[in-house]
Amino acid sequence: MRDATKAVHHPIISTEGYAALSVPTHRASTIVFEDSDAYATRGQRDLDNYSYGMHGTPTQRVLEAQLTELEGGLRTVIIPSGQAAIAIIFLSVLKTGDHVLIAETAYPPAIGFCRNFLELRGISFSTYPPGIGAGIEEYITDNTKLIWMESPGSTTMEVEDVPAIVSVARGRNILTGIDNTWATPLLFKPLAHGVDFSMQALTKYPSGHSDILMGSVTVNDLDLRKGLRDQMRMLGMHTAPDAISLVLRGLETMALRLTHVGKIAGKFAAQINERGDCEVLFPALPESPGHDIWKRDFSGSSGLFSVVLPEAWEPNLDQALDAMQVFAIGASWGGTHSLIAPMNISANRDTPHARNDRIILRINIGLEDPADIGADLDLFFQLLSAD
Ligand SMILES: *Cc1c(COP(=O)(O)O)cnc(C)c1O
Repeated sequence: MRDATKAVHHPIISTEGYAALSVPTHRASTIVFEDSDAYATRGQRDLDNYSYGMHGTPTQRVLEAQLTELEGGLRTVIIPSGQAAIAIIFLSVLKTGDHVLIAETAYPPAIGFCRNFLELRGISFSTYPPGIGAGIEEYITDNTKLIWMESPGSTTMEVEDVPAIVSVARGRNILTGIDNTWATPLLFKPLAHGVDFSMQALTKYPSGHSDILMGSVTVNDLDLRKGLRDQMRMLGMHTAPDAISLVLRGLETMALRLTHVGKIAGKFAAQINERGDCEVLFPALPESPGHDIWKRDFSGSSGLFSVVLPEAWEPNLDQALDAMQVFAIGASWGGTHSLIAPMNISANRDTPHARNDRIILRINIGLEDPADIGADLDLFFQLLSAD
């Protein structure tokens, strides 16, 4: 071989005696085949195998296998974002004429996908109120094919009776899915309760550092997995191995991070609750909606909770937010930084409730020293409640 060829073709070296604790980052578009027959029959390869970089390299297979174990499932699909994961689930189940029933407390862009994408293509949707349990029966129509849950609900944190909803759905041959981003499979295992699609935004706790977008869906059925992968293939979805390797790194510390922020969030949620002048929404608090179900089904809480801002404090909000030193103002959560975001849910609720028109503060507890977090919250509430 001449130099130009040698420059292109990497030598094969031995990896004998080499073992690292980190997962190698395998980047690839092209995957080569051992002979022409292997190439000709590549379309028959199992979905766990390799045929083209778009469908995954060994780096992705490691994350799939690791999430499958944590979820207690059969297979996991990695998707470029949490929102894309929701969309892919819906597209894999729903055809023109079908209906999806979605929690009104679901991540608002998921409802936006129903309204602005599915409905234009002849797939209808309606919402159900949080905490309805077996009452879901009333909301089911003849063409309902999927029930989409989120627990706790976005911003208002209501816990769903997942086993009750699954039981009704199974009796009617309706598939169920859940957005389990708040709990992660460390704190709640949807598949153990019979849910068909367990989805999480890896963007939050699994990646854990506010610098990655990614989603996952875990199932207990190979046909459901094939349905998801078929949609992804049609849409040409691919998740970069470099990003996946950062999620694999984040996962190693996730249990510790979750235990810590769950404890600290519990402490501050209780402290704010004890003030007695504002409503705190956090499933671990006995006063919070669905606390008993949370206690029954979850093994802990993560570090995100909400505070309903009393109307009288609204004029002080901007000044109080701008004075914070530890908390940054921003959406997304589950990273190392404490975050606060004022949320307005009025456009995203169908069931009337006094808090729908209030500003709700979504608070993400990070990994800063709890004393600094506490001092910042004290200052915040002092400024908020000032006359
Ligand atoms: C962030 C989030 C999503 C979307 O995840 P992205 O990766 O940002 O698209 C979905 N559901 C919940 C509950 C989330 O918090």
